[in-house]
Amino acid sequence: MGSGAGRPEPTAGRPARRSDAGPMHASFSLGRWAGVEIGVNWSWVVIFVLIAWSLAAVVFPEATPGMSTGAYVAMAAISSVLFFASLLLHELGHAVVARREGMEIDGIVLWLFGGVAKFKGLFPSAGAELRIAIAGPVVSLVIGVTMLALATAPLPDAVGGVVAWLGSINLILLVFNMLPALPLDGGRVFRALVWQRTGDFTRATRIAGSLGRFFGQLMIGGGLLMLLLLGAPGGLWMALIGWFLIAAATAEMRMATIALALGPLRVSDAMATAPVSAQARSTVADFVETRFSGSRHAAYPVLDGEQVVGMLGFRDLTAVPAPEWEDTRIESIARPLGSVLVLEPGANLGDATIELVQDELGRALVLEGERLIGLLSMTDVSRLIELRTGPGSDRPDATGAAPLGNTAALRQ
Ligand SMILES: [Zn+2]
Repeated sequence: MGSGAGRPEPTAGRPARRSDAGPMHASFSLGRWAGVEIGVNWSWVVIFVLIAWSLAAVVFPEATPGMSTGAYVAMAAISSVLFFASLLLHELGHAVVARREGMEIDGIVLWLFGGVAKFKGLFPSAGAELRIAIAGPVVSLVIGVTMLALATAPLPDAVGGVVAWLGSINLILLVFNMLPALPLDGGRVFRALVWQRTGDFTRATRIAGSLGRFFGQLMIGGGLLMLLLLGAPGGLWMALIGWFLIAAATAEMRMATIALALGPLRVSDAMATAPVSAQARSTVADFVETRFSGSRHAAYPVLDGEQVVGMLGFRDLTAVPAPEWEDTRIESIARPLGSVLVLEPGANLGDATIELVQDELGRALVLEGERLIGLLSMTDVSRLIELRTGPGSDRPDATGAAPLGNTAALRQ
């Protein structure tokens, strides 16, 4: 049992975690489809109910009059489920192609504005981004055209109504989604094309992001006009989507700007050398007594002798109840080398930063061959950005890393 160290408090350098809160976080899971984790955020439930309600109360009674209320409710429920199934298929289209391009997939989440596929890491090339971006819209196009074709067949009124609505909603969303504005799929296609032509990812992001902000502003303006002049509540929804477009486009541009600010820098320029480490075979009690009490960090490299075997997060440590410290070895609670971010000292710092932002621990081991030479955190990168940009210059963002988010890897 540790002496004066006591139980570690999660105050010192809480690791930067991502997507464990907010409207794009999965509140519950629908399991795995085609090997991809499907999550649902609570905000989606609200949208599901709103869509089902407006279909039952307004859309279907207008489109196919003369049916019973029960029939409209049933049509609305089935349509809503199929609509979200088509959104999932759209996201799976992105995910399946992304996996074929060698990208790691973090899952798909249904949320307030539909679906979003989350990827780890960077797009390997402009061509890869283009193929991944276009895959979702192709799925929507196939669904939309198939449904509209089906709707021309002699079907019972109720079935025909559902099929026609599904076809048209998929095609309407497709047209909006193909606007050349980040973070929409059309914006990604456009960015990839500019990137391919100019070879300049940052510039391509700035152009597509500016268009994203422009369309966002148009939607806010148009939405508010609809709401105020026509009293149409849909205007509020349009303004909300516009606001989301602006926020997401801005985050992507900031990310690209930071990549530019870090320019030719390498991981070794920003990393902390000689990090405090933990020995794999020592007990938690030993570690807390000898290492931890003097220096509290968000993460510790774990060594077996001289050999790096993993990383110990602050939260991994705090998860062990104090009475078990004597009997728990560090190796049993540490994250194995295969599940932590490992960087080479010569790697590009901009690329590394984007990976770091997306990493659960927000920390990377820097290895030269098999040898541990440093630890890289967002704090290290932020400090370097502040040093290099300073007051008065064209800073990427005053607070450095904090507002980054992982939107670079998000896909609508
Ligand atoms: Zn998409």
